[in-house]
Amino acid sequence: MAHPEKKKASTEPEIMEKLVALCKQRGFVFQSSEIYGGLKSCYDYGPLGTELKRNVKAEWWRAMVHSREDIVGLDASIIMHPDVWRASGHLAGFADPMATCARCGKSFRADHVWELLLDSGWYQALLELYQNNEVSSLVLKRWAEQKGKKLAPNLALCRDPDGTLARLAEKTGGEIPGSLTFKEFVQHLTTEQLERTGLQNPCLECGGELQEPRAFNLMFRTSLGPVDPIEAFIARMRQKQAQLVGACSTPNNTEWLDLLRQECKAAVEESAVYLRPETAQAMFTNFSNVQQSMRMKLPFGIAQQGKSFRNEITVKHFTFRSCEFEQMEMEFFCHPPEFTPPGAKTDMQWFEYWSNERLNWYARLGLRKEKLRLRAHEANEMAHYAKACNDIEYEYPWGWGELEGIAHRTDYDLKQHEKHSGKKLTYFDPLVNKHYHPLVIEPAAGADRAALAFLIDGFAEEPPPPGTNEGRTVLRLHPRLAPVKLAVFPLVKKEGMPEAARKIVDEFSQCGIKASYDEKDAIGRRYRRQDECGTPYCITVDGQTAQDGSVTIRERDSMKQERIQVAEAVKVVQKRLAE
Ligand SMILES: [Zn+2]
Repeated sequence: MAHPEKKKASTEPEIMEKLVALCKQRGFVFQSSEIYGGLKSCYDYGPLGTELKRNVKAEWWRAMVHSREDIVGLDASIIMHPDVWRASGHLAGFADPMATCARCGKSFRADHVWELLLDSGWYQALLELYQNNEVSSLVLKRWAEQKGKKLAPNLALCRDPDGTLARLAEKTGGEIPGSLTFKEFVQHLTTEQLERTGLQNPCLECGGELQEPRAFNLMFRTSLGPVDPIEAFIARMRQKQAQLVGACSTPNNTEWLDLLRQECKAAVEESAVYLRPETAQAMFTNFSNVQQSMRMKLPFGIAQQGKSFRNEITVKHFTFRSCEFEQMEMEFFCHPPEFTPPGAKTDMQWFEYWSNERLNWYARLGLRKEKLRLRAHEANEMAHYAKACNDIEYEYPWGWGELEGIAHRTDYDLKQHEKHSGKKLTYFDPLVNKHYHPLVIEPAAGADRAALAFLIDGFAEEPPPPGTNEGRTVLRLHPRLAPVKLAVFPLVKKEGMPEAARKIVDEFSQCGIKASYDEKDAIGRRYRRQDECGTPYCITVDGQTAQDGSVTIRERDSMKQERIQVAEAVKVVQKRLAE
């Protein structure tokens, strides 16, 4: 099904528009299916973007797996047994009706709105007034104009205090709140056109009116096996034909609809499978396989990179949030407090360790420290089973936002899978001669989001240096992340310079360093092109090269040029890559 991207004025900060344009022009990221008008929230990585993302993933793998003895890798299938998602809770929420706010667009579980409202600031403030019998037209109007305006700007009461209060007074015969329950009272304060819409429920965030609930599917569902669910449905309905005809002949009842829905659901569920919404669950279902085959001792981790899929309601900010994305997750299994050997790290120390370790990973690869921070989750932000959560946040052009999450998931996942599968998922600890469930610390990063942060952070528009009139756009990517490490130019396309330059490209390639050859345009333009691609070094072969084997090497960030021997050039670049 096609969802053509609507053409509308962008709300992105200007720097994002420039970066998106650069990404397209230089072959980093393209809109998916662009020639067909694009597909919402789907992106394709071009040649340079592919290299960048591969480098990001390779750096993660190096830091998390190859440089450690206590973490091993996994590459699980994207489609897993549907019971995995039953155990994880993803499937329970699969068909939950969601209500979306007409004003701010946020969605909430429709059956939990009134519970969730208890955590909402504006709702609490109104509840306090109501419980203290302080509700009157005057008090409400003052509340709407001060506190309410800030806490719940889209509440009907705040948008139109006089009109809303007049309608409320009419309803209660002048007494406010009269005999209204608190729920009805809040619904009246939410509703602008009672006759047209009936009483409405409010948005937790902004007080706007929630629209009709609809089933919202977070997971992408597909079917496994040769029988098309439509055919399975038809076969079922053949059996129920008489019942259906009977139900249809009774006017004004919905029995026939219920029958159709029930049979349709059953037919679909026979073969339903889901694209994974996270990679983590495979690390839990394979816990014993990995632990036993690799004879791993606590504490140890299982790491995985791979695609995940979520039918997100809000997709925005370029590749920041999209429906198809690549995760880099690691589940670190550690001792519960009662079994932690003396002197070893406790679960909470591992949580702190991984929070810092991951933050430092981004800093080591060049993200500016002042743009990074660690934010601890409030209790109401965490999943019910989590003991602690930290977000590594980055200051994007649109504000601070999540870059990576580190969660202390306790032993919830292993126990859930044990319960649903009936298979033991414990660890045998020879030190205490006991079986128990380890605790889990999970640093969960995204390859796309990390690549985007590196692009944003590296993107700069530099004014012309003194004495010149030409500025430049540069991507200051860490050399290890840069798609191309080195560009080699012949100064002119003659006198053996192209041949000498190509020979240098070959030498670098043989050392496993990605180099590219460029002979088009004036040398200044070639430099600028490479700056925009984030290439850290450029080497120019000129007339002197044939005489003494020397070349000019130019560094991207400082634009400093040096004359060195070709053999040295390999060492200079290798050294920088090893930093
Ligand atoms: Zn809202």
